[in-house]
Amino acid sequence: MNLRVPGPTPLPPSVVEAMTQPMIGHRTDDFRHLMREVQEPLRAVFGTRGDVLILTASGTGGLEAAITNLLSPGDWAVAACIGAFGERFADIAEAFGVNVRRLEFPVGEAADPVKVADALRDAPPVKALLLTHNETMTGVTNDVPALIAAAREVQPDIYAIVDGVSSVAAMPMLADAWGCDAVVTASQKALMAPPGLALVALSERAWTAIEESHMPRFYWDFKQARKLAQIGETPFTPAVSALQGLRAGLRLLMEEGLEAAFERHRHVARLARDGLRDIGFAMVADERHASPTVTAAWVPEGVDADALLRCMAEQHGVIAAPGHVKDKTIRLAHMGWVSEADMRDALEAVEASVRYLRGE
Ligand SMILES: *Cc1c(COP(=O)(O)O)cnc(C)c1O
Repeated sequence: MNLRVPGPTPLPPSVVEAMTQPMIGHRTDDFRHLMREVQEPLRAVFGTRGDVLILTASGTGGLEAAITNLLSPGDWAVAACIGAFGERFADIAEAFGVNVRRLEFPVGEAADPVKVADALRDAPPVKALLLTHNETMTGVTNDVPALIAAAREVQPDIYAIVDGVSSVAAMPMLADAWGCDAVVTASQKALMAPPGLALVALSERAWTAIEESHMPRFYWDFKQARKLAQIGETPFTPAVSALQGLRAGLRLLMEEGLEAAFERHRHVARLARDGLRDIGFAMVADERHASPTVTAAWVPEGVDADALLRCMAEQHGVIAAPGHVKDKTIRLAHMGWVSEADMRDALEAVEASVRYLRGE
């Protein structure tokens, strides 16, 4: 099987093996050692010297945790939404009583720093800017440092909270250098690990926001998480097997080298776009901002996307995902453990399935 959905992603054999190790207690030296071993590689993938908290949650849980720890009900936030995941991030903030101003951008385009600055110019003090680093629904990567810089030209104190779920570990993320205050990712995307963990990188300044926040919270308490992390533990029972898998995934990533991994993602993504275009697909993403981790495309005229996905799965064992327009778009993910051969195999399945559906 060739799993090409944007998470969970395929697992390398060493990760599968790590996850099937006998269980260990989460208040033992073995566990504390495991927690310490993942810290340095996690700092490297986030581009930070600060704390990276490990939460037992999916990516959405990590995003909710960032909102509930840094913000308070009644705060203002500006959300740059370029697709479904950006909208979800705004929805989460709204669910907790944050006043969210959504900036919408055309499908397939990246968020425009000028528009973000304009929205902040005639606004009351805005506590946070909510950004999606890589919009997984449209396959578009935002220019996070440009967006943060543009926002801070107008409102210098604004906190930047970034959804890096489908970007971190597959493309450069320099949380410290770019001035991100919270960056969230999840174990099951580019980290080559199973679902179960959300990772949250926090700036020094984020802790000021956390001190000020009076949002109710219990399970997602960053102060508790940091306190326990200092002794190599977590406040509650963590997903131990997922963490063992994450350690193995991070080992592979460090052996390959981050730059090499980023280049592999760019290369496979280019192959996906060129290959799909050759078969008659049109790209959803503006080429200048096309994502290295997921490609969304409009199916050729006369082909039903649903039928295409079913044919690819049933006849070729290639599992892809629908896109933002269910019967007209598909997405091929290429994040984490993915090679050129995987992508060539997926493209062959797309081509054969298009032919089959046309009765050729
Ligand atoms: C996958 C993803 C999420 C989180 O999804 P979960 O299913 O909660 O892990 C959030 N944002 C983006 C951009 C994603 O790709």
